[in-house]
Amino acid sequence: MAPSKVLAGARVVLPTGIVDDGRVVVEGTRISDTAPPDAETVDVRGHWLVPGFVDLHNHGGGGASFSGTAEDILTAVRTHRLHGTTTLVASTVTDDMDVLARQAGLLSELAEQGDIAGIHFEGPFISPCRKGAHSEKLLRDPEPAEVRKLIDAARGRAKMVTLATELPGGIDSVRLLAEHGVIAAIGHTDATYEQTVEAVDAGATVATHLFNAMPPLGHRTPGPIAALLEDERITVELIDDGTHLHPASLQLAFHHAGAARVAFITDAMDAAGSGDGRYMLGPLEVEVTDGVARLVQGGSIAGSTLTLDRAFRRAVTVDRLPVQDVVAAISANPARLLGVYDRVGSLEPGKDADLVLLDEEFALKGVMRRGAWVVDPQLG
Ligand SMILES: [Zn+2]
Repeated sequence: MAPSKVLAGARVVLPTGIVDDGRVVVEGTRISDTAPPDAETVDVRGHWLVPGFVDLHNHGGGGASFSGTAEDILTAVRTHRLHGTTTLVASTVTDDMDVLARQAGLLSELAEQGDIAGIHFEGPFISPCRKGAHSEKLLRDPEPAEVRKLIDAARGRAKMVTLATELPGGIDSVRLLAEHGVIAAIGHTDATYEQTVEAVDAGATVATHLFNAMPPLGHRTPGPIAALLEDERITVELIDDGTHLHPASLQLAFHHAGAARVAFITDAMDAAGSGDGRYMLGPLEVEVTDGVARLVQGGSIAGSTLTLDRAFRRAVTVDRLPVQDVVAAISANPARLLGVYDRVGSLEPGKDADLVLLDEEFALKGVMRRGAWVVDPQLG
């Protein structure tokens, strides 16, 4: 076993507050509360230590996607780990049901091995009016029997399904998902305010990238945004890449929902951690220019090229959100939603030693997952 390590002198962000000149003891794969005498001390003064990031919604990175082969999936996972994401839910995009069922089988094996934290099906049960970068001809209504097929194909590894709950079968599907312990996420939806309230009452608990792919907030048609923001039972996903949301919209959502009800996600596609150029998002072609991904046909925004280290830095330095709140939204809240907060999502003894080292400007300077450095500490 590797010798124990004491990361000492950092500003450590704990659920109870920020500890200046704090320390985190790593023993084997876990965080410990006491350091053995032979522990190696790493001086990380002048840095922040925060929990590893947890991404609920991510389609790929490093030129590879979660719709690809096992090797592609691992490439994408590794890419995001280099950017601090130590727990990641792999998202699919709308495709043929047979293709999705097959992919679910493959992804479930990787979840079994601990490479990913589960599967998020985004589509095909979404609204043609708010399809975003999903193939219209492959969309379908959320018939519970169809939704069931995907959950079964995921062999206990389905974590979340994004659906337009106003479509025929939508409310019954929300109930089905809730019964199976799968998060019903409202998104790519054209629902009214009232329809959204009904879906939340039926058991939906997440808003898929709030604001994006849903009707805007109107003064007499408040739509899903108002219903999702006001309900304590809902966690809202936000994409903080400077492209998907105006900073004022992000602020509005963050302050209205409160730090305990926000999850920062990437919604990343293959180009994240890779570069501009031509990519595929499921069956659709995407052009990435200056880091912004758009469909070749029609120009819809097609996921992001965001990584969570960039989202973290932006949230603190541009949006001016408190570090403690950003840690909640990027680690603790998504971990709680996934039911893994007993293992990850905070820097507490007994949990996996998943952590991110940031410098004073919030640039990533080290990543540890389960006690091993994924990015060696750069302590300039
Ligand atoms: Zn997505």
